[in-house]
Amino acid sequence: MNSFLVQGEKSAVLLDTGLGVANIRSVAEDLTDKPLLVVNSHYHFDHTGGNRLFDQIAIHRDGAELLKSQAPDGLAEAYMEYTQRLIDAWGPYKKADDVYFHLLTVERLVRPLPQGFDPAAYRVVPTHPTRLLEDGDVLDLGGRRLHVLHTPGHSPDCICLLDRENGLLFGGDTINTGPVYAQLEDSDLGKFAESTARLASMKDDVRRVFVCHFMRLENEPSLLGEMAEGFQRLVAGDVELRDNVDCMNFPVKEACFDHFSIFVAGPAGPAKL
Ligand SMILES: [Zn+2]
Repeated sequence: MNSFLVQGEKSAVLLDTGLGVANIRSVAEDLTDKPLLVVNSHYHFDHTGGNRLFDQIAIHRDGAELLKSQAPDGLAEAYMEYTQRLIDAWGPYKKADDVYFHLLTVERLVRPLPQGFDPAAYRVVPTHPTRLLEDGDVLDLGGRRLHVLHTPGHSPDCICLLDRENGLLFGGDTINTGPVYAQLEDSDLGKFAESTARLASMKDDVRRVFVCHFMRLENEPSLLGEMAEGFQRLVAGDVELRDNVDCMNFPVKEACFDHFSIFVAGPAGPAKL
């Protein structure tokens, strides 16, 4: 899970606060002494878990009530089980990389859970936003401006942030590498296709695309066109689907493309998150 700190001359934005397993506020304050505004790319707990450490929290208007609501029973436990499976898989993966593949660099290392963190005690804590965002809003940090793009699909409140002057797009959970989650109860494939088409139409304004999940966190703008085409083909029924499971071990169907895949609901129905 990747969070991003964007600093201007007057203030800074922290895009997403992670799961809340470590103190991301002290990390952010080590990086900047400017006043901090947390911006959530959407309400899901893996992007908002550290919100409780901050005073100023912004989210798209459609996410305000969702952010305040209690997470479903068992969600925290199931995600901590996934985290443990991931950590267990890391050892052999890293060992094989060291000998054969050499893809991993210092930016791409899985770190252990923080000292003293008890996964069994982990809970998802609802928080209250202090500012509601709309499509077209501009966050002026002083010498750096972030444009808010409402990009529903993964969830109704998803946003991306675009620093147009510097060609930087922060994709939230709308643009991703690895599996893109469109299998959730609050996902909407048609809206996802529209949102990715809109982002693809902006690709001449973009130099680098940053994403929130997995290790390929920095991407070429060509990913925007590839994702838009992938969703278009998926909606048209023009893709092969294979069986897979999501991070909660819930059965899904997966459409695979060159640089990402898309999870959609299978016969078991939509997944919860
Ligand atoms: Zn999400």
